[in-house]
Amino acid sequence: MKDSFHINTKVIGLIGHPIKHTYSPFIHNIAIELKKLDYIYLPFDVPAASLHNAVEGMNALGIKGYNVTIPHKESIIQYLNNVSEEASTVGSVNTVLNDHGKLSGYNTDVHGVLETLNPYKDEITGSQICVIGAGGAARAVIYTLIRHFKPQKIYLINRTEGRADSLKTYFSAKMKFDAFITRELFPPDLVEVFRDSKLIINATPVGMFPENDDTISTLEDSFIKNQIVFDLVYNPTKTKLLQIAEQQGAIALGGLKMLIHQAAKAFEIWTGEQVPIEELERSLQLYLSD
Ligand code: NAP
Repeated sequence: MKDSFHINTKVIGLIGHPIKHTYSPFIHNIAIELKKLDYIYLPFDVPAASLHNAVEGMNALGIKGYNVTIPHKESIIQYLNNVSEEASTVGSVNTVLNDHGKLSGYNTDVHGVLETLNPYKDEITGSQICVIGAGGAARAVIYTLIRHFKPQKIYLINRTEGRADSLKTYFSAKMKFDAFITRELFPPDLVEVFRDSKLIINATPVGMFPENDDTISTLEDSFIKNQIVFDLVYNPTKTKLLQIAEQQGAIALGGLKMLIHQAAKAFEIWTGEQVPIEELERSLQLYLSD
């Protein structure tokens, strides 16, 4: 880790609340080290009520850019001068660039989802897809699916069904895609929905550390050979859902690749530099196995 800082050291960081379990400082400070840049990445715990003051303060201090996480991903938009087409359509911003006081917002989760799914583009395009969750991450997932994979149909399953319905209405209006079927957790035909979907995506925190043994359902005979199951959870790197899916012949994709790619894209926006992805991934795997 870099140990000398001075007046020209550029500060980048993260705002959110709570932010105790974030890997972003590790990832970005490793990237800074790999690229030998004069930057430092710091986490700032900013509760919802302090967002306005935090944005003003960061502008005054000349902070070059920051990631934005829960609960600010939507509320940050009112303070920005520009919002990228992706972030504007998704309806949430996870990366802000401060160009001499002019703030631009981006959603790099979209890039992370795309990098994870692109190797399976031919199989996924035009197929039925099942998404579980209707929060911020699900929004980035749905945008990416509609824009890049033209699904035949999206089953949107969420604990609070009204929230799934809101997403359906939102994306029907924004992206002219209305082939959604919304369901509450656990619809009686969950197994059929799963088995008929080429791709199943978990965009909820279910199965995340320390609740490693949790899954969204019992999942017996729910998967088929060569089906793709993508869990956005990255800790553990292979969730119980992915273990079960793999045992039943599915291709299991964890959230780590998305995490690294969304970070690399944000890093590029702030510094103009491309991160060596494989080296970053190796460092993160080592860090997680400690
Ligand atoms: P969020 O906005 O808080 O949404 C959470 C979603 O999960 C909601 O739909 C919520 O349902 C559902 N949910 C929460 N607890 C649940 C439970 N016990 N049972 C069933 N459903 C539950 O969070 P988010 O930002 O979308 O993040 C979701 C997950 O994605 C997190 O695990 C996060 O770490 C992960 N993520 C990963 C990456 C990556 O780079 N790999 C990037 C972003 C997010 P209700 O609507 O009913 O509350």
